[in-house]
Amino acid sequence: MSTAWRKTYENNELMRQAPRILIAGGGPTGLTAAIELTRRGFAPRIIDNDAGPTPESRALAIHARSLDILEPAGITERLLALGNRINGMIIRAGGREIVSLDFSHLPHRFNFILALAQAETETAMIDALVDAGHDIGWRTGLKHFTAAGGEVVCTTDNDGTLITETADILIGADGARSQVRKDLGLSFDGESDPHEFGLVDVELDAWTYPFDRAVANIDDGNITGCFPLHEGHCRFVANHPDVLNRLPAGAKVKKVIWQSTFRISYRQVYSYQKGPVFLAGDAAHIHSPVGGRGMNLGIEDAATLAWLISTGETDRYTALRHPIGKKVLAFTEAQTRQITSTNPVMKLLQNHIAPVFLKLPVMQRIALTRLTGLDTPAPAWLGTR
Ligand SMILES: Cc1cc2nc3c(=O)[nH]c(=O)nc-3n(C[C@H](O)[C@H](O)[C@H](O)COP(=O)(O)OP(=O)(O)OC[C@H]3O[C@@H](n4cnc5c(N)ncnc54)[C@H](O)[C@@H]3O)c2cc1C
Repeated sequence: MSTAWRKTYENNELMRQAPRILIAGGGPTGLTAAIELTRRGFAPRIIDNDAGPTPESRALAIHARSLDILEPAGITERLLALGNRINGMIIRAGGREIVSLDFSHLPHRFNFILALAQAETETAMIDALVDAGHDIGWRTGLKHFTAAGGEVVCTTDNDGTLITETADILIGADGARSQVRKDLGLSFDGESDPHEFGLVDVELDAWTYPFDRAVANIDDGNITGCFPLHEGHCRFVANHPDVLNRLPAGAKVKKVIWQSTFRISYRQVYSYQKGPVFLAGDAAHIHSPVGGRGMNLGIEDAATLAWLISTGETDRYTALRHPIGKKVLAFTEAQTRQITSTNPVMKLLQNHIAPVFLKLPVMQRIALTRLTGLDTPAPAWLGTR
């Protein structure tokens, strides 16, 4: 935590006292909300069902906007020291390289994607909060709440002991199965893809490509992507549960570190706010992992909400964040359909036409800007920290 960050917090006794803010969920979204609120002088309480941060690697991609957002709290510095910079992406189809994306075309000082296991990202965030004097309420789940008369009365469960906690603001950052969203009665509209996807984190004995390059192998509707975590370690993900039997030629696995399967859904709430209760991150939207946008979108939701709370403009929250979430859902769905398509016209476009355009730096700039979410307006406060 930077000294300036601590000073703002310690000197602003008035803001530290009100309003009372409860954050349900200590994933990347809830942690960002706690960090940004604390940096702005508030003293939120953050609780989580679990005993500590996720031990799993889950979301690996940290985009430039998230690094911008987390910089004032001193977290970006930590993440940059821990993560692996992905400087480009090689796309192969039909057994040949069709595109090589060079991230130096990204119009940003952080012109790379930072690869870091979610477990480590969360730990860096938690360390920053603990440095600032926070006590995270682990093993404490929000059971339910009622909002009336400008107050939110919450029942939390700390290892079997039920506690009543009253807040002025409740932030539901409690993930895709959000209890806060359910209690608000908000529908999570959208659809689910019936296909099962697989992912595996491995230590490699042999690999053909440099460890600063992501690689996507597309072949007749089958895709296997490789995202290097650091030298000798990669995440492989495929649109099939049995990833290990679909690794690209040249990959020799030494050790499997973690594997999982998942299904993709595209869902979003129509409103991110009901009175003093807000939703952020996976609690408000879920989509395909293509582009690694999920965690980054949650970080941006949370930071925007913290800013709006500090300026007293929370009623703008849905209007600011819903369209961006909607855009990400549409983009990731289109990309996922494109790369898993067996339609001959789509394949012609992908394998022969798009690669010609993507040889041009200007087209790479446009594509990478969209892929990493820099095509959405930068939060107004980023320039006025
Ligand atoms: C196996 C797997 C792989 C993934 N891979 C990728 C990837 O490669 N790229 C990518 O972008 N995204 C990926 N994701 C998604 C990514 O992890 C999420 O988008 C991201 O974690 C969202 O952060 P969040 O804080 O909104 O929600 P979460 O990370 O889900 O955090 C929610 C937190 O709330 C807590 N909680 C839940 N209910 C309650 C309650 N009632 N009271 C208190 N606390 C509660 C949970 O314990 C959890 O800690 C993956 C997810 C999984 C499961």
